[in-house]
Amino acid sequence: MKPLALWIAFSVLVYAPARAWGFFGHQRINRMAVFTLPPEMFAFYKYHIRYITENAVNPDRRRYAVEGEAERHFIDIDVYGDSAIYKMPRRWEDAVAKYSEDTLRAYGIVPWHLQLIKFQLVKAFKERNVNQILRISADMGHYIGDANVPLHTTQNYNGQMSGQYGIHGFWESRVPELLADDYDYFFEKAQYLKSPMAKAWEAVTNAHLALDSVLRFEKELSKQFDEDKKYSFETRTNMTVKVYSKEFTTAYSQMLGGQVERRMRASIQMVGDFWYTCWVDAGQPDLDKLLQMTPEQLKMIEDEEKNIPIVPNIKTRQHETGLIGEFPEDKPTYYFGRNVFRRRND
Ligand SMILES: [Zn+2]
Repeated sequence: MKPLALWIAFSVLVYAPARAWGFFGHQRINRMAVFTLPPEMFAFYKYHIRYITENAVNPDRRRYAVEGEAERHFIDIDVYGDSAIYKMPRRWEDAVAKYSEDTLRAYGIVPWHLQLIKFQLVKAFKERNVNQILRISADMGHYIGDANVPLHTTQNYNGQMSGQYGIHGFWESRVPELLADDYDYFFEKAQYLKSPMAKAWEAVTNAHLALDSVLRFEKELSKQFDEDKKYSFETRTNMTVKVYSKEFTTAYSQMLGGQVERRMRASIQMVGDFWYTCWVDAGQPDLDKLLQMTPEQLKMIEDEEKNIPIVPNIKTRQHETGLIGEFPEDKPTYYFGRNVFRRRND
């Protein structure tokens, strides 16, 4: 690579923050989950779909501002040894007794956090607290999305231990961003979960079992692509960004046999299941009655979330120091905002 190109690539990489599933993936997961809901919930979530979609990445914003946030997004299950995904105690108390709370927090707590946030959403429904229902629903969608990502279940989370630095953003941002429009978005209706705890562990387990191919196929494919064919440059909001080329991305996705799509679909379905289960456990409150929020109230919620500072003042593991394949979140996208739905209903 020429010195100038190298400099551009480096300067760009430093400034491009990453997010699990990227902005694009997290927003799509939250948005699509709304369509799995039964009629008693659908009108409320549909009305607030713009909020649910745009705030899908709030937990990542908080990672740098709130102590204790970072550990909620992953679990490095492989630090606990062979077959740890099956041996790890499912209940928090049992896991703490076995490994200590400090250790668990150091290596991530996503499956346990899903249980905690499930309680929080039930409580919000019981209290008919619209702000909290929306806020927690959006957050929950985020953590569920993270729990389904293979690279969120390993200490080699960015390929840094296997010479594949940058693979995190490649798998969860670049692949869906290029290919997700072709995914199948037909879903089952949300199901009641008898054991959200078991579901959370099932998600992490399936994600972890997919990890081997995530890493191995990238390595195999890289042998077939010269460096200048593997990567390309794109301009985004006046910045030149080094990205995995379209050819490489498509070939990787094909090699994975639709794995990224499966993990995204599993996330969407699971978000719907969790929202629905919380609502049922709260006694199925009448959400249609909660629809009459004033624009001021809505704006207040949105402003609160937007004001979370993105300041790297908290020491956290760097899932997301600027990496290839991870992009500046220039334009949050959503597809059918509240207004569109309103117009359609008119
Ligand atoms: Zn996250």
